[in-house]
Amino acid sequence: MMKIDVLTLFPGMFKAVLGESILKRAIHSGKISVEIHNIRDYTKDKHKKADNRPFGGGCGMVLGIQPVFDAVCDVKKNNKRARVILMSPQGEVFTHDKACGFSREKGLIIISGHYEGIDERVKSLIDSEISIGDYVLTGGEIPAMAVIDAVTRLIPGVLGHSESNKDESFSNPGGLLEYPQYTRPAVFEKMKVPQVLLSGNHAAIKAWRRKESVQKTMDKRPDIIRDIKQIEI
Ligand code: SAM
Repeated sequence: MMKIDVLTLFPGMFKAVLGESILKRAIHSGKISVEIHNIRDYTKDKHKKADNRPFGGGCGMVLGIQPVFDAVCDVKKNNKRARVILMSPQGEVFTHDKACGFSREKGLIIISGHYEGIDERVKSLIDSEISIGDYVLTGGEIPAMAVIDAVTRLIPGVLGHSESNKDESFSNPGGLLEYPQYTRPAVFEKMKVPQVLLSGNHAAIKAWRRKESVQKTMDKRPDIIRDIKQIEI
């Protein structure tokens, strides 16, 4: 079982995401366990403040190092071999390869910042600083949920056979985008499903999907084609 601890100032944000669908099932079947910890519970400030004004001036509030430090030390006692991840717009961009690596960890401790961010000394506590893209969100809660979701579905046994991630975008050989998908009805508003998919000819369907996958990737994301040999049809 992968043990995931999340440190946040807003624990309530996680309830809906963890309580539905595949993540809910992964928790119930014991593939992952997720504990959400309120950073505010660790503050030694008598008014229960976890943040403060930045040294040197400037706008906004900075999450202080003391409650974050104490929270990480505390959750580490029960998640000793965990990788400690800081969610940050300044981190390395989260990719499928990173999700695969994290899915092989014994545990994860994920720190979500808020406001102007966290005191820079948090760097002494972390193994990875991860961004979910080049834009700034109000907090690290949505990024933490994105990481938990992407990592969990790569843990063996989490997805049922019908939900397999074998052919999926980024994970198939060469990291291509997935081929186009269609379902009933075969004709809708004069728009037809490609004939080959209705043919029952498995070899032809496989070849068509491969060709479409290569074409889609070349059109939409030529940057992710890692090995030119992989895209020969
Ligand atoms: N002042 C910081 C800066 O300019 O780099 C931004 C702080 S942001 C408003 C507050 C928190 O949201 C961050 O500490 C981080 O945890 C989270 N966050 C915001 N954007 C993110 C992103 N793209 N990826 C991961 N975490 C992000």
